[in-house]
Amino acid sequence: MAEETIFSKIIRREIPADIVYQDELVTAFRDISPRAPQHVLIIPNHLVATVNDVTESDEPALGRMITVAAKLAKQAGIDEDGYRLIMNCNQHGGQEVFHIHMHLLGGKPLGPMLS
Ligand code: 5GP
Repeated sequence: MAEETIFSKIIRREIPADIVYQDELVTAFRDISPRAPQHVLIIPNHLVATVNDVTESDEPALGRMITVAAKLAKQAGIDEDGYRLIMNCNQHGGQEVFHIHMHLLGGKPLGPMLS
């Protein structure tokens, strides 16, 4: 059984976060340490520790994460110029918080992915 992270507390609004979207499946909030003018994290409301732990039952939330990312990008006015969606997995992927999340990054040219 995976252990809850700070993200569960953000979903339940037990600690402050700049939540920009929430529904029955997912929550999106601004990253506390933004790496781009727009940096939002989109997460499932239920705990899945890493992408390795994803199962078919998570597909509705994972699909919603992408449609919400597209919606938020449009709202922020970065859809035409473009943006990047990233999910990090475990140590080599640079994952720090073990509740899966999609980074939505944009608002400036991000350069080549691996630099
Ligand atoms: P990872 O490296 O796991 O893919 O990304 C975790 C992200 O969560 C980092 O970009 C980090 O800045 C962000 N983060 C960690 N703790 C908090 C927090 O308490 N609040 C918010 N809003 N973001 C957090």
